[in-house]
Amino acid sequence: MALIVHKYGGTSMGSTERIKSVAQRVAKWVRAGHQLVVVPSAMSGETNRLLGLARELMPQASTPEVLRELDAVAATGEQVSVGLLALALQAQGVPAVSYGGWQVPVRTDSAHTKARITSIDDKRVRADLAKGWVVIITGFQGIDEAGNVTTLGRGGSDTSAVAVAAALKADECLIYTDVDGVYTTDPRIVPQARRLNSISFEEMLEMASLGSKVLQIRSVEFAGKYRVPLRVLSSFTPWDLALEEEARSGTLITFEEDEKMEQAVVAGIAFNRDEAKISVIGVPDKPGIAYQILGPVADANIDIDVIIQNMSHSGRTDFSFTVHRNDYARTMEVLRQQVVPALAATDVVGDPKICKVSIVGIGMRSHVGVASKMFRTLSEEGINIQMITTSEIKTSVVIDEKYMELAVRALHKAFGLDEEQAAVGGLETR
Ligand code: ADP
Ligand code: ASP
Ligand code: MG
Repeated sequence: MALIVHKYGGTSMGSTERIKSVAQRVAKWVRAGHQLVVVPSAMSGETNRLLGLARELMPQASTPEVLRELDAVAATGEQVSVGLLALALQAQGVPAVSYGGWQVPVRTDSAHTKARITSIDDKRVRADLAKGWVVIITGFQGIDEAGNVTTLGRGGSDTSAVAVAAALKADECLIYTDVDGVYTTDPRIVPQARRLNSISFEEMLEMASLGSKVLQIRSVEFAGKYRVPLRVLSSFTPWDLALEEEARSGTLITFEEDEKMEQAVVAGIAFNRDEAKISVIGVPDKPGIAYQILGPVADANIDIDVIIQNMSHSGRTDFSFTVHRNDYARTMEVLRQQVVPALAATDVVGDPKICKVSIVGIGMRSHVGVASKMFRTLSEEGINIQMITTSEIKTSVVIDEKYMELAVRALHKAFGLDEEQAAVGGLETR
């Protein structure tokens, strides 16, 4: 008997039919003798619908009071899901109980709309499991010290599930979704993308942080910190698929680098169109300039991603960086009002229509020429690289958004990740 956490995403919970199928699948695991905790998302489209309603009515400024109420609204999607799933399980003859994050409780900090889980009390859940019940806990939501309902950011149910699995020291956390695992890149953009049998934790962390939304980045961080065995698999297989087969399907996130494994140098390609580029032109090239430009931006609580400072000409230089597209207007305002006058800069220019494309692979540590192959591939497609950033296991470029799909497809092919190529070249799917 094992303690297993299942997480079901929005599409997997998308209709009463789908919820019934989830209940049948969970019942199969219970009948095989396992203890089950299930963390579902809101039904697909529901969180968007709720936030849309809120936006129609909310004031312009995102004050803490406004963010609190956005969470109060958004958290209700998951509340409906857990209750419906508990009913569907009871209809299968399986005892089940649902809890909102506040009832467990799942404690978080007070950063409304992007709260972090700080602790999870396992007493109530363990007592129910000991009675032979299935426990269903809302994804995405928690409660802060002061008793306010919080949410964990979009895609946060993944993090709820992994955190619950960590708190309960579960044997495995299974993330059921609308694709049958983690692919070399988003299969919606590149139909030739291949499913990986396994991916290293480090690669998954980079893929998630660089834009692959199949797992929320914080869920991968949690899995790493607490060594939660994590698997991504399909909720669209027949519910009565043999349990042993289901348990081996999808993509396993591995913590040990397997020496014997046939490693492709590049494991996958991630992309993110949520960024915007800003350049401050003609700033004096002297010590402290980066701080003087980015300090006020950081003070406005805006995260900065890629940064470039150009070579100076006659004592002046240009300084460029990227921010989340939602923060673009606010960043431009901070720069125009505070930074340009203080530094006597010539101008501030920006481009919200850029994207970041990244290649990721632990094989990049031990192979040279990977980045240059990336640059050559993009140049052959006539794609101009605006910014570059690298780390040990990834290289990212900032390019014009309109070339994003072309760049991802070209790189996918160039690094031998396409399905047919893999078959011809004899590359193993890992
Ligand atoms: P859920 O509602 O189950 O949480 P998400 O929409 O959040 O599902 O995540 C699954 C989606 O992630 C897939 O439908 C796919 O389009 C997208 N995706 C992006 N990158 C990848 C990748 N590398 N592998 C698999 N899916 C990916
Ligand atoms: N329902 C939330 C969202 O749409 C959380 C999740 O699905 O993971 O972002
Ligand atoms: Mg998701």
